[in-house]
Amino acid sequence: MYLSKILRSPRTLAFRLTLWYLFIFTLPSLRAFLLFNFLITSGLRERTDQALLAEVSELSSHLALKGLDVVELDIVQDAESSGVDRMFLRVLSLDGEELVSSNMTSWTNVAIKKAASDRLTNGESHVFETLAIPQLPHKVRILYGVIGPGKLVQIGRSLEDDELFMEAFRDRFVLMMTALIIFGGLIGWFMARRALQGVEEVAQTAEDISKGAIERRVPFKARGAEIDRLATTFNDMLDRIHALICGMREISDNIAHDLRSPLTRIRGVAEMTLTSGKSVGEYESMAANTIEECDRLLEMIETMLAISELEAGAGNLAVEEVDMAEVVEDACELFQPLAEDKSITIVTEVATSSLVNGDTQRLQRLVANLLDNAIKYTESEGTIKVSLDGDASQVLLFVEDTGDGISGDDLANIFERFYRCDPSRSKTGVGLGLSLVMAIARSHGGEVAVTSYPGKGSTFTVSLPR
Ligand code: ADP
Repeated sequence: MYLSKILRSPRTLAFRLTLWYLFIFTLPSLRAFLLFNFLITSGLRERTDQALLAEVSELSSHLALKGLDVVELDIVQDAESSGVDRMFLRVLSLDGEELVSSNMTSWTNVAIKKAASDRLTNGESHVFETLAIPQLPHKVRILYGVIGPGKLVQIGRSLEDDELFMEAFRDRFVLMMTALIIFGGLIGWFMARRALQGVEEVAQTAEDISKGAIERRVPFKARGAEIDRLATTFNDMLDRIHALICGMREISDNIAHDLRSPLTRIRGVAEMTLTSGKSVGEYESMAANTIEECDRLLEMIETMLAISELEAGAGNLAVEEVDMAEVVEDACELFQPLAEDKSITIVTEVATSSLVNGDTQRLQRLVANLLDNAIKYTESEGTIKVSLDGDASQVLLFVEDTGDGISGDDLANIFERFYRCDPSRSKTGVGLGLSLVMAIARSHGGEVAVTSYPGKGSTFTVSLPR
């Protein structure tokens, strides 16, 4: 497993981050090295040149004061004190003929350049050159200078010390850089792995979930704001998906339940009619029963489709100017007989005109569903008050009843599809009415709110933008 991880490495983000880290880290180091290299080399060169120039000026003053014999002694002594294989000096005539010189055994290959002596005779004070002589392991810095009338000097100094110093500098730098690159690479790899550990955990969790561990979540470890946000958002998303899956499961359970009951009833009645009675009246009653149950099923399916369409925004609202006062009054009139059957009083309080832009049929259905519920869940002798209010921006519809009320736990769920507060399902209904009310209100840009006191009654408030 570890081997496969390493083989996979070049494609991993951690590996690429490490390379970037190394690149960013190495580039300035290399630039610093080149700069130091240049500064040290030119510093050393400057020092050598200054020493050579000082030598020329000393010889020049000695020649003027003490003559060529003393200068000869000087150059022999100077070469010996520096080492005859490290330095040579020779005095030349203007046409490049050697007059006196130090020990030249190690410098037999160093020529006297005519071009250099010509430049000096033409007025230049000194001429430098650097020579690489095949027999010598190190380069030589040579200076031609004028030390007196008709007298030139050629001084050569081996650059051995400078070159050895630079070699040592480069060796140390390479050693240091190698150590730093290895160390930097390890730190970069460690940091990249640490930074990406959270992402890896999210990926691992996703992998586990795809294999079936649906309850798995990314553990919270405070790994840095971005990764923590990713982990929290990922966990929230998983919770939401889980809740949605549970909700869908519940809905399909409810659909199965709500389809099974009427179908069982239809089948039961048909079976009983077939086995027992054979009279036309019994067949007629069975047919009527079947139609009634089928209507209920169809209504349930249509309501589900209507909710889905509205929620998906595919409900194609036939928008026109609708007077909500008219819609409320019509609905109350329609439900009056039903209310009277239960000795329930419906009170309406509507302003003369409450105009909104909306789909008349759907708004009628919204009011009807709320009224139907109010009557259904209010005991006899109760009161239902339907009122309208609002301002320039919205119309508010209140449906208030003195019915059973809804407990706090149920309040949060009553707008869910198929949710019914009464588990015994003693009252008719499938739990889709309020879902439809909410879907209609939202498709009009509105909202539905509810306040309820168990045993005292409920108030549903629908806000609709004008
Ligand atoms: P249902 O078909 O069961 O009436 P709804 O979606 O219309 O479905 O309502 C969901 C649940 O909310 C109902 O089962 C009922 O328990 C509760 N409910 C709705 N309206 C009222 C109300 N006015 N008073 C008390 N309970 C209500």
